[in-house]
Amino acid sequence: MKATRPSLKDFSRDALRADFKERGFPAYRADQVLSWIYAQGVESVAEMNNLPTSLRTHLEEEWDTSSLSRRRVEVSQDGTQKFLLETRDGAAIEAVLIPEERRNTLCVSTQVGCPLACSFCATGALGFTRNLTTGEIMDQVIRAREVLSEESAITNIVFMGMGEPLLNLPAVTEAIGLLTDPKTLAMAPRRITVSTAGLVPQIKPLLEIGPINLAVSLHATTDTVRDELVPLNRRFPLDVLLGSLRSEPLLSRKRPVFFEYTLMRGVNDSLEDAARLPELLKGIPSKLNVIPMNAHPDAEYEPPDQATCDAFTQTAYRAGLRVTLRRNRGADIDAACGQLAARDKTALSSVIS
Ligand code: SAH
Repeated sequence: MKATRPSLKDFSRDALRADFKERGFPAYRADQVLSWIYAQGVESVAEMNNLPTSLRTHLEEEWDTSSLSRRRVEVSQDGTQKFLLETRDGAAIEAVLIPEERRNTLCVSTQVGCPLACSFCATGALGFTRNLTTGEIMDQVIRAREVLSEESAITNIVFMGMGEPLLNLPAVTEAIGLLTDPKTLAMAPRRITVSTAGLVPQIKPLLEIGPINLAVSLHATTDTVRDELVPLNRRFPLDVLLGSLRSEPLLSRKRPVFFEYTLMRGVNDSLEDAARLPELLKGIPSKLNVIPMNAHPDAEYEPPDQATCDAFTQTAYRAGLRVTLRRNRGADIDAACGQLAARDKTALSSVIS
């Protein structure tokens, strides 16, 4: 089967150099290939005209340059674009491009489905199929970049799509290495954000990658409520999670932790919740992003009304937190937070054929 060929995008620069050397090609050829793929946006080996014929033939016969095929792009009224992408083994995943005035943020997936089963999340309702490879993470960036005009680039990457990034840390680490490699995409680490539901032991290794941003899905101010919403809380309750974020090496990074708080009517939206937040987050340089629940058929939770969202945000702000109430982007095409389920697969080749 085709999927057994190695994919060029699964390799970090160092790994590809070592692999090429082993096969008898000089290591610098790996740099040239990566530069074609990431810097020039060329995937057809025939066009890589500074490579010798022997290497081109080898790549064409033994390797894949692409890990994902674009099957559908949906465009929201607010300009958000959702990509349905198919892996080489026929799985469906989604990525979301969020254009703003001064930046284009791409939200990437790290797993097919997710094993964490957060009760309000559409991806959680899918169950877990498998981790994505490095190449499949990188290809979300390449497939999205292809729809942007020459002048605009993807400026920010958030690991906030389908899946729990910290359950796939090796591939996420390699992908961040490629995103920030000066010879490939040369992104600044501060333009990359990884979000976790709170897999405490993997947070430190994640932050050792470099000065990237950490986002933590908080969603509750008591263990009773968080146990219900984020079952992982039963393994790593609030005092353990927040205690680890207060630890010395994390504090010395001098970068705020972004806390995500999805507001659900009657569940976690009281003013008492809002007032508890500053105490809970004390000692952690924090920014709080409040996001009204995006309703979807797999969960019974609803967003509170606008007045409740505003009052919650105001209360947290007056108590001293840096807080932003987020607009829901792309909700009309099910591209908003927690709505990614790649449910409509009619565009996949395997379904069509
Ligand atoms: N597993 C990681 C990465 C996913 S990020 C994590 O949990 O952080 C996606 C964000 O959207 C998370 O904060 C998640 O809790 C939130 N989310 C999930 N379902 C949602 C919904 N229906 N409405 C609003 N936010 C939701």
